[in-house]
Amino acid sequence: MPDDMHATAALLSAKRAELQAQLGVLEVRPADQGSISFGKRVGEGTSMAVERLSQVAVHDRLQVTLADVDRAIAKLSEGTYGRCDVCEGPIGSERLEALPWATRCVRDAARR
Ligand SMILES: [Zn+2]
Repeated sequence: MPDDMHATAALLSAKRAELQAQLGVLEVRPADQGSISFGKRVGEGTSMAVERLSQVAVHDRLQVTLADVDRAIAKLSEGTYGRCDVCEGPIGSERLEALPWATRCVRDAARR
């Protein structure tokens, strides 16, 4: 494996750890949700419910990114890193620099 691949592998596993830590923080929360009352203190309950919804959205987004990071790590070991999973064309170095866990080219990513 060339040096830049090692650097990419290190970067991806660091990103993976970061995402898992963020997911871990979000996943601790639901245990507290049972105490939310939508009764008397409506304003407070509603804002907490809204906050919970945005947490779910963040959680979903983190999981999608984590799946991409996992796939990119797999592609490194398969030797297909840098190639699109859909059309097998090059993802492009600029895109990979901005998004090292990209597993699809810009065109195919837009179709997801
Ligand atoms: Zn493609």
